[in-house]
Amino acid sequence: MRDIVIIGAGPAGLSAAIACREWDLDTLVIDEFPKPGGRLVGQLHQEPDGEWWNGIKETQKLVDKAEAFNTEIKCGVSVHHIEKVDNGFAVHTNQGVIDTENLLVASGAAESPAPLPGWTLPGVMSIGAAQVMTNVHRVRVGNKGIVAGVNVLSAAIARELQLAGVELHSMALPAVNTVTKDAGNPKKVMDGLVRIAHLAPSAFLRFGSKFAKAAWIRNLAVNFYPKGGVKMWGMPIHIRKAIVSINGTTQVESVTVCKVTADGEPVAGSEETIEVDFVCIAGGLYPLAELAAVIDCPFQYVEELGGHVPVHNQQMETPVEGLYVAGNITGIESSKVAGAQGTLAGLSIAKKNEKSNAELDIKIAEAMKQVKTIRETASIQFHPGINAGRKKVEKAYQAYEQANA
Ligand SMILES: Cc1cc2nc3c(=O)[nH]c(=O)nc-3n(C[C@H](O)[C@H](O)[C@H](O)COP(=O)(O)OP(=O)(O)OC[C@H]3O[C@@H](n4cnc5c(N)ncnc54)[C@H](O)[C@@H]3O)c2cc1C
Repeated sequence: MRDIVIIGAGPAGLSAAIACREWDLDTLVIDEFPKPGGRLVGQLHQEPDGEWWNGIKETQKLVDKAEAFNTEIKCGVSVHHIEKVDNGFAVHTNQGVIDTENLLVASGAAESPAPLPGWTLPGVMSIGAAQVMTNVHRVRVGNKGIVAGVNVLSAAIARELQLAGVELHSMALPAVNTVTKDAGNPKKVMDGLVRIAHLAPSAFLRFGSKFAKAAWIRNLAVNFYPKGGVKMWGMPIHIRKAIVSINGTTQVESVTVCKVTADGEPVAGSEETIEVDFVCIAGGLYPLAELAAVIDCPFQYVEELGGHVPVHNQQMETPVEGLYVAGNITGIESSKVAGAQGTLAGLSIAKKNEKSNAELDIKIAEAMKQVKTIRETASIQFHPGINAGRKKVEKAYQAYEQANA
């Protein structure tokens, strides 16, 4: 029986493991990916101060620190079920069952789909897949592509593809349908861009700062959006053009794009064909939280956090005895926030066996402060109103505790 099993070797899981090992807990980190780092490994972007955030280097720092504390990290281990048993949890994996007293689920986020006609053709991929192929596997995803979806993640990854020498024609909206909804609505997309502009990487900031915060100016900006798009890193960003279909016989050959009204309605007769050999679909991110659901952890839908999240308190503890969560499973935020949450979760787990340890209390208080500070200064913020979202989860935790007292 382990003291703690951590599912996910991303920044949250690795940081939690380091904190657990610092307090001498018997810790095992498992991850289904062949190497540790989670989504951090694929990241490469410039911070507003001009510094580069290199995910490979940041991962190595975390792995080196974890190894310095003799942390056991097993990759290629996929969790498909968890049972709550008498003294803890039985974690079912492709390599057998692992028993543990405590469990931290740090499984990260997944990409939302944005289905378009033709999206099953070879050459169509999610924007995250393009990031992993380019930055992790060093595979060229194609010669010339287009991005369907304008948001922080697609902007960051489009830049990464450019840096790797991959040609992108432009970024445009996915056509409105029952799934894409707001992602295809120029006004909604503009709202999102303006709200995150002050926190986004430098080039994105230049883009966002072209528009004021007042709603009427945003509407004006949508109505008079430049026909050739607004250029970011030399690449046109279109929010008044939508990709209506992806065309080809055995693979992607082109896309059909049309002009759209300020509300996302297609303008008849405005269709044009753009030759490309790959398409990246960017529908946004949501917390990957199913593993917490199979052990009956209560959930709360919080739009500001990206979807359904396991109910948890500020110390990353859920109402299920011994179950903790950290990172993007608790809401979509940057890897720095995920790492800080991981450290906090690790300290909270250590606290279970050291109830009256004053040093640990101080460290937990500092770690909570650190999560807030990093959140406030994050260069990438995926959702507006993150603090309001966090408060909703906290309230849900308190309500749950009161109801079950
Ligand atoms: C496609 C994509 C691209 C992103 N790009 C950026 C970016 O450029 N910049 C940025 O700041 N943020 C980005 N993010 C957000 C990113 O999720 C956070 O930055 C950060 O990596 C979250 O850390 P985490 O530890 O919570 O999760 P992750 O880093 O996602 O790590 C979770 C780990 O859990 C493992 N896992 C999940 N389920 C299981 C299971 N059942 N069994 C075993 N292992 C499992 C996964 O393999 C993964 O390694 C991106 C997210 C996604 C999904």
